[in-house]
Amino acid sequence: MVERAHDHLLAMLMSLEIAPGERIAIDAVARQLGISQTPIREALSQLEAEKLVFKMPNVGYRASPQMSREEVRDLYTLRQLVEPYAAARAAEAMTEEAITILREIDRDMTSIEKGDALSYSRFAEADDALHRFIATRSGNRLIAETIDRLHSHLHIFRSLYRTNAPAEVAAEHRGIIDALVARDPIAAEQAVLTHLEKSQQRMDAVLASAPVMAPA
Ligand SMILES: [Zn+2]
Repeated sequence: MVERAHDHLLAMLMSLEIAPGERIAIDAVARQLGISQTPIREALSQLEAEKLVFKMPNVGYRASPQMSREEVRDLYTLRQLVEPYAAARAAEAMTEEAITILREIDRDMTSIEKGDALSYSRFAEADDALHRFIATRSGNRLIAETIDRLHSHLHIFRSLYRTNAPAEVAAEHRGIIDALVARDPIAAEQAVLTHLEKSQQRMDAVLASAPVMAPA
């Protein structure tokens, strides 16, 4: 029940069906899903940990505002410093077991059909799995924890919902995966850096075209 409520709310947040800043009516969600309010509250507290919603006293939950320009800039600066390095170390440390896991992530990512909000949020989760895999396999625990805490995939994909190009992202991910499987640290480092630079350009285009929305 909690998982169903979580996936439902996540899809609505990612596809902007619940707009940034919008209040989330727990009773309406409960009616939509035909379940009680308790699992929905639990799902909301999970989403709060992922920084997609926040709780206001006497108001309840609201969807988080979109990232500001400064937040986007800081996020990409950090990721571009850390993730290419992590990818190089991960490529050097690739084992047969790691390649099997990577192939699974790859399969999940390519099996997702373009289309509805749910498949979009699943694509974002597959993206998260790849970036977390790289961070974890770098062998540096602080890097893994830092990347994990950012939950950046959720926020980036939410911002890019209207303009995101999954085929473009998939091609960039393919380059990363190929370099890792080939155990080529230089290619892996470069592929991750290129992916993050292109991702930042996509974000900049969105920020340039839309004013940052204030909470409603
Ligand atoms: Zn990615």
